[in-house]
Amino acid sequence: MTERIAVVGGGWAGMAAAVTLAAAGRSVCLFEAARVLGGRARRVDLAERKVDNGQHILLGAYAQTLSLLRTVHGGRAQHELFDRRRLHLEQPGVFRLKTAPLPAPWHLATALLTAHGLSRNERLSTVAFVRRLRRCGYRCAGQLTVSTLLADQPDAAVTHLWEPLCIAALNTPIEAASAQIFLNVLRVAFAAHARDSDVLIPRIDLTALFPAPAAAYIATRSGEVRLGEAVSGLTALADGVRLETQAREEHFAAALIAVGPHQLADLFAAQSSHATSVVLARVAAFAYEPIRTIYLQYPCALRLPVPIPMLKLNGDPGQWLFDRGQLGGAPGLAAVVISTDVAAGRVEHGVLASAIDTQLRKLMADLPPPVWEQTIVERRATYACTAGLARPAPGALQPRLYLAGDYTDADFPATLEAATRSGVAAARQILAAHV
Ligand SMILES: Cc1cc2nc3c(=O)[nH]c(=O)nc-3n(C[C@H](O)[C@H](O)[C@H](O)COP(=O)(O)OP(=O)(O)OC[C@H]3O[C@@H](n4cnc5c(N)ncnc54)[C@H](O)[C@@H]3O)c2cc1C
Repeated sequence: MTERIAVVGGGWAGMAAAVTLAAAGRSVCLFEAARVLGGRARRVDLAERKVDNGQHILLGAYAQTLSLLRTVHGGRAQHELFDRRRLHLEQPGVFRLKTAPLPAPWHLATALLTAHGLSRNERLSTVAFVRRLRRCGYRCAGQLTVSTLLADQPDAAVTHLWEPLCIAALNTPIEAASAQIFLNVLRVAFAAHARDSDVLIPRIDLTALFPAPAAAYIATRSGEVRLGEAVSGLTALADGVRLETQAREEHFAAALIAVGPHQLADLFAAQSSHATSVVLARVAAFAYEPIRTIYLQYPCALRLPVPIPMLKLNGDPGQWLFDRGQLGGAPGLAAVVISTDVAAGRVEHGVLASAIDTQLRKLMADLPPPVWEQTIVERRATYACTAGLARPAPGALQPRLYLAGDYTDADFPATLEAATRSGVAAARQILAAHV
């Protein structure tokens, strides 16, 4: 019987699992249906240029992801991979919050007390709210929504601070978003170390950031990464797993399934069991939220009113602006992000790009017309992280079949960190089971 482990899916969860297995000396064969690794966090090769399928940011609190990046990049310095800076939320002329160079929690308390765009009473109210959260250990009832959690917060604090943070982290409107998952994010970002709330914006494309060096790492440890090979079926046997692709049928000691939640049903068509039915029933109840990234290339470097690479916008229609020119990209390349907004989805791409251009012109009056534009829509960017949502756990689904993916992490919302945590957790279960 083969000792090889199959990993299905070359997103960040699958790559994290494969790196963990390879590091422990197991022979891994990873199957990725697409031609490019990375799944929802990947490079997109367009005719004129390469961009990411969506602008991503990481937090200093992404401990698992950062540890894997150290493993696969070896000694490569972090500043080559990221622009890393203290959390600085700024909507020019409207709102500013910047964490102070102090230990936690004083870095946040000082930021809240000195925030621009909130009155003195509003600032005191946000500090009191955070103190209450600390006292209750960042715990609340599972069914509570973020808007209920924020019921006594001033409107300005909700509009300028809490709602944008919730949408950025959970990609779910506050009226439906899980307060407990939001609190988990606030706890890991703000409660322990000041560096945890740092914002890390990739300087290199998302495939080059992790999946590609992870594949190289796996290859040097007798593993294999097969691109453009979709797995069409999996069957658990007494002593292993039979895996089918269009081209062949192979046997493995175990399989770790790291596809998106909506992609599970096809894989399990030939593998009906109580465990797979429970997982399929849970993911069938998921709703999904879109994220749109609109790239606009201007012929000259952007002259932002505040020279930082990430600015908050007024949401009409863009929510966040990233100046890729400050991040190692082409000068004048703007990436504008719209999360969850279903209304924006009904707008034709050209019309949306032109609305974003108009919006940017209000920040930079002397902006010349863009020379290139591209809108990338991920309709199922993340599952809607709603209050009380039941989700499967990462790890053993049944003997020899293991599950990973951002939707399986209990604590984090659908993020890179949830994906890598789930991949590592599932891989460790395989190693512990000695399959
Ligand atoms: C536009 C956008 C912006 C985002 N912004 C952020 C952000 O700023 N910060 C953050 O932390 N997170 C962000 N996220 C979320 C993050 O990208 C995801 O949580 C994470 O990438 C999910 O990884 P995954 O490996 O669990 O799943 P996926 O990335 O979906 O990977 C699944 C992989 O399985 C492959 N696959 C599917 N079926 C098969 C099959 N039958 N055979 C072989 N392969 C198969 C797919 O092709 C895919 O590559 C964003 C997501 C999007 C879309």
